[in-house]
Amino acid sequence: MEIELVYVLTPIVVIGFFVFFILLPRYGPHYTSRLICPNCRKAFNFHWVLGATLTSLRFGNNRRLKCPYCGQVNTFNITSTRVSKPKVKRMS
Ligand SMILES: [Zn+2]
Repeated sequence: MEIELVYVLTPIVVIGFFVFFILLPRYGPHYTSRLICPNCRKAFNFHWVLGATLTSLRFGNNRRLKCPYCGQVNTFNITSTRVSKPKVKRMS
């Protein structure tokens, strides 16, 4: 019985990880935050998925990001700067 249970559960766990880490960030709901670098004052967009990365668990609403313009690493609050909501199914 125990061996059969492993054969049943393993594919489910593998598919779950695949969906969560590969499909969800690309096609699932994701947010866009408009961040402004405190160093060079330039704005850039950052796409992120709720709870999809380990850093989000550690820092909560803050992400440590490298500015694409000046290269300085800063901590940004991504929820307060959120500009777009996740896209739901398109109405046709
Ligand atoms: Zn900058």
